[in-house]
Amino acid sequence: MIEPLLEKVKAYRPEADLELIRRAWEFASKAHEGQSRLTKEPYVSHPLAAAEILTELALDEKTLAAALLHDVVEDTKTPLSEIEKAFGREIAELVDGVTKISRIDFAASKRRQAENLRRMFLAMAKDLRVIVIKLADRLHNMRTLKPLPAERRREVAEETLQIFAPIAHRLGLWKFKWELEDLCLRHLKPGKYRRIVHLVHKSRAHREERIRAATEQLSTRLKEAGIKAEVYGRPKHFYSIYEKMESQGVDFDQILDIEAIRVIVPTVQDCYTALGVVHSLWLPIPDMFTDYIAKPKSNLYQSLHTKVMGPIGDPMEVQIRTQEMHHTAEYGIASHWLYKEGVPQQKADEKLAWVRRLLELHTDFSDPGEWLESLKLDLFKDQVFVFTPGGDVIDLPAGATPVDFAYRIHTEVGNSCVGAKVNGKLVPLNYVFRNGDLAEILTSKTARGPSLDWLSFVTSSAAKSRIKAWFRRERREENVTRGRDLLEEECKRQSLSPPEILSDDNLQVLAEKMNYSTIDDIYAAVGFGEISAQAVVKRIAGKLQARHIPPAETAAQGSLQLGVSAPGADGLLFRLSRCCCPVPGDEITGYITRGRGVTVHRTDCRNLAAYQRSDPERLMEVEWSLSEQAFYSVQLEIEALDRVGLLNDITSIISAANINIRSARVSTRKSSMAIFSLVIDVPDLDHLNRLMREISSLTDVLRVYRQRSA
Ligand code: MN
Repeated sequence: MIEPLLEKVKAYRPEADLELIRRAWEFASKAHEGQSRLTKEPYVSHPLAAAEILTELALDEKTLAAALLHDVVEDTKTPLSEIEKAFGREIAELVDGVTKISRIDFAASKRRQAENLRRMFLAMAKDLRVIVIKLADRLHNMRTLKPLPAERRREVAEETLQIFAPIAHRLGLWKFKWELEDLCLRHLKPGKYRRIVHLVHKSRAHREERIRAATEQLSTRLKEAGIKAEVYGRPKHFYSIYEKMESQGVDFDQILDIEAIRVIVPTVQDCYTALGVVHSLWLPIPDMFTDYIAKPKSNLYQSLHTKVMGPIGDPMEVQIRTQEMHHTAEYGIASHWLYKEGVPQQKADEKLAWVRRLLELHTDFSDPGEWLESLKLDLFKDQVFVFTPGGDVIDLPAGATPVDFAYRIHTEVGNSCVGAKVNGKLVPLNYVFRNGDLAEILTSKTARGPSLDWLSFVTSSAAKSRIKAWFRRERREENVTRGRDLLEEECKRQSLSPPEILSDDNLQVLAEKMNYSTIDDIYAAVGFGEISAQAVVKRIAGKLQARHIPPAETAAQGSLQLGVSAPGADGLLFRLSRCCCPVPGDEITGYITRGRGVTVHRTDCRNLAAYQRSDPERLMEVEWSLSEQAFYSVQLEIEALDRVGLLNDITSIISAANINIRSARVSTRKSSMAIFSLVIDVPDLDHLNRLMREISSLTDVLRVYRQRSA
């Protein structure tokens, strides 16, 4: 039973390892023993027929062995490991590939998913030989579909038309495609199929007469010219006639295309010689000659096409090509890359990758924009295909995770995604999909939205941009709300009326001053911590006040107006110590100097403590005795995380309190720490304390303190 196959292989590949094919045959026969097909034939006749179909492609013995074994794992109890043990890894992988593809439930998924299913099919078959084996398998199944119940036949035919015929087309396996389509038509539209077959046969008598006359004349002439040629009428494909009738809404007689005859010759030189013979025999129709040999079609099709006035004065097309070109015309690029002699394995793989990319690119995108998009983003990445629980197929870039999947389904699904199941099992969100995975996303209404670290593992640009957009948008809304709340709170804290302070007019003026384009931008900036609520309120309140009260100009400190007195001692000259800068409200103690009067220190001053030990008799009791407003210089130190605008925030709080700043110095420590040293004039301790509280509540301010001693 295997002998005819071996003979065929020997004919095109004399060095082939026929023993390998024979062993595969014996292995398969044994494994399928006792099984039979619905046609009552032993089951093993099916893989044998598939292998025989593949000899048309002149495939190597490994592919043929795999074809013979292709149903062993799927339909018998034989594990793949046994095939690997007996035939090696390469053949085992081919069998495994076919088995996996066979398990895809094409029928269960929706028809509109056909394109993605085809792509999944291609992506799953890491080796194109797997696809070719699968196509041969399907072709033989279609040829032997008859014993199946009508319902099942329709299903298989539908699936073939949706998935397998287009794949054959894409691979350029036209011959497979034509036969698959004709067989599909036969089972899907039996009535129309029978009618077309009938009409083709009816017209045949007339047609064949003309074709025979033409082929005879041409054959004779070519023989005289010394060319060994094969001449025959171009075969008709029922499905393409059906398609034309359907798509153009015309009847059979209107679509019968022009008669064509085909000339197959040994060499390229012979092609041109034959063309001369044709043109000398029949009158060529001007401008109807195309040289696809010099300029092959993008699918590598080569041939000479010419139109002439035929034997009975009807237009007729003549196609002239070599055997090799003809092979390409029927089997497409497959005939070039599939296991030619002397092609090293790696080269073959490169070609394979190239073919795959070509196939991907030639995908018929309905929307050119979508096509461009995919070209731009995922051109050089492989893809992974994943099932939704509803049977849809979603294609994602290789390396995609459940988060990519979730965002592909819907932005909301992505934003509320909290977990994922793959093939029924819980997986982490950074799980990397494999082709054919069934994915299910777990969402929660209380989900807080995406997590920033998702950005570290998502691969699709859509998911990335949606996660980022979420953070931009959510944060802004959040920040605007938060900013508004903070400002209102701040107004209340300062016993100011929020509607008055935060009126649109006030905020608009401030926005312009601070280079924000809208009022919401100010809210967002406050909410985000870019500026403090205090600073904003103070600036607005300060502005309002400034309209009524001129800023204090008497910030100078007069020695006679210190407002310090000593009980029971008049005429003393007081000075405020420079080490601790006391202000009214501070507890103070006087120190009697030699010749410079009494220096006033804060009672907790460190220097004072030293005097107390060395010469306590010089200390004297003093008190504040303010008669009019005076200002006292204080040095403040502010430790903060350095950020743009912080000094501005601090100074606006101070100036809004109508307090004079004598000097401000910033020194930066480490990378992000800054120390602001300010000398300000305050009227008393209350003002100072309030000011220090306000400054210390600014975002990023860590600590505010008065300098205690120099
Ligand atoms: Mn099979």
